[in-house]
Amino acid sequence: MTHLAVSIMVQNLDQALAGAALAAEQGADLVEFRIDAFTDRPDLVAVLAERSALPCIITCRPDWEGGAFSGDEATRLRLLEGLADTARPPSYIDLELAAIQRTPDLRRAAAQVVDHPGQLRPTSTGLIFSSHDFESRPIDLYQRIEAMAAAPLCRVIKVAWMARTIRDNLEAFEIIAQRHKPTIALCMGEDGLASRVLARKFGALLTFACLDAGAATAAGQPTVPQLKQLYRWDAINEETRVYGVIGDPVGHSMSPAIHNAGFGDTGYDGIYLPLRIDASYESFKATVASWLGLEGLHFSGASVTIPHKENLLRFVREAGGEVEPLAERIGAANTLAVAVDGALSASNTDYAAALDAVCDRLQCTRDGLAGERVAVIGAGGAARAVVAGFAHHGATVVVYNRTFEKAEALAAQCADEPGKVVAARLEKLCDSCCRIYINCTPIGMHPQTDGTPLPDERPRGWGAGTVVFDTIYNPVETRLLREARADGCEIISGVDMFVRQAAAQFELWTGTAAPRGLFRRVVMEMLG
Ligand code: NAP
Repeated sequence: MTHLAVSIMVQNLDQALAGAALAAEQGADLVEFRIDAFTDRPDLVAVLAERSALPCIITCRPDWEGGAFSGDEATRLRLLEGLADTARPPSYIDLELAAIQRTPDLRRAAAQVVDHPGQLRPTSTGLIFSSHDFESRPIDLYQRIEAMAAAPLCRVIKVAWMARTIRDNLEAFEIIAQRHKPTIALCMGEDGLASRVLARKFGALLTFACLDAGAATAAGQPTVPQLKQLYRWDAINEETRVYGVIGDPVGHSMSPAIHNAGFGDTGYDGIYLPLRIDASYESFKATVASWLGLEGLHFSGASVTIPHKENLLRFVREAGGEVEPLAERIGAANTLAVAVDGALSASNTDYAAALDAVCDRLQCTRDGLAGERVAVIGAGGAARAVVAGFAHHGATVVVYNRTFEKAEALAAQCADEPGKVVAARLEKLCDSCCRIYINCTPIGMHPQTDGTPLPDERPRGWGAGTVVFDTIYNPVETRLLREARADGCEIISGVDMFVRQAAAQFELWTGTAAPRGLFRRVVMEMLG
């Protein structure tokens, strides 16, 4: 079993014990008391262990290993001695490999207190040998692990380093999986989140969490509620399938909250994480290939966002996988799916989401769009998916864009037959006479919510019967939609498209109907 340990920086006895009680209430099963700044009264450290609501680890981390303790080893030695005869000893004491190697007195004092093959006194306390690198991956990582593995005093191996990319997590998983002793292998920083969440999948001794975001004792530590509710800690097991959102940035993506809630609701054995990958194709290819290649990870799919939508298409094409034909035409894909036999596919759920949002409002099938006139505002990535989707289903599309040449290029790319997709200048929007208007620009998006692509002089025929769709989802109702509603138009929010594209991904991965109402509620909650 992998423990969920809450790390608490001890300021005083009451604060630390209250923290342990709260950790127990939140569902943690171990607490680490970081006594770096609580070293004046060794007797109180024993009291901490005795009165803690949870079994505990005692750690006094020196400043030279990233902690706050600046005293000498004689002080730490006294702290160790103070733990020798406690009524309820700590489950673990953590000491740095480097300290044990260079300070024989510390090693001897530890040997008095902890359980090891030569121990004569009855004690259940185990010694964690730890090693940290707050800058990068240490070059001698495996030498350090070997030294820990070989030391009879060492009950638990702990290594933690700053993740350079999300690929570092894979090494942490391998270290845990190859363990001969109970092992903790964690990557710090935003890119190390996977090592913290999936520690349970690979059978690590523990992962660390904090009580609240301000109380983290290492970079990238999630809070207990994040780990348990958002990242489904209790449901993770060896077989759990792993998904994620690949992009840069991904820190504020709503997708982990949506998909993890969906997995929980439908009972699907999956976990979904933010996966940041640097912009280049080489980074994308190397990282995704390594995640796909790690045995036991069960990496089974991803949502792919800016700047990697084109890279996904190229990657799957080069790997001999299946690319959805319309995604190929659009030139971008947003969904990677990995079949049980490892076969890859790339598809685009954005265009389908936009089509279905409009079809629902018009109460027609996709084929029923033939003959409709659609004005698309913008000629970027979102517009490309929308234009290709509507043109493919027989609608006549006019692309209005600030940079006319881009509208022309998009029209040429998406026209199945002459005249079905045409380009126009943005200033000419008021001359249009379409039934459907779709904003694919960021004009009106948070924080510039007073913007609108709609001219004061409304397009011809604008009013009752017109459908106005804004792909922006923050705010839920943009100024464009507010004014369109006031003018009597039917309106569709970008939330609708966002929920539908996520639902289509979920269904592709799980083969189960997505809980769309739940997805919508999660999105609305996150948008406040
Ligand atoms: P993009 O590739 O950067 O394209 C942006 C487009 O907007 C370009 O055509 C650009 O015109 C135009 N534009 C930008 N600022 C403008 C301004 N001030 N005045 C006139 N035109 C302007 O962006 P994207 O990826 O297509 O995203 C566009 C929007 O779609 C975003 O707001 C995003 O929220 C939304 N979106 C929503 C969903 C969803 O699921 N709901 C999914 C994807 C995207 P130029 O060509 O002249 O630069």
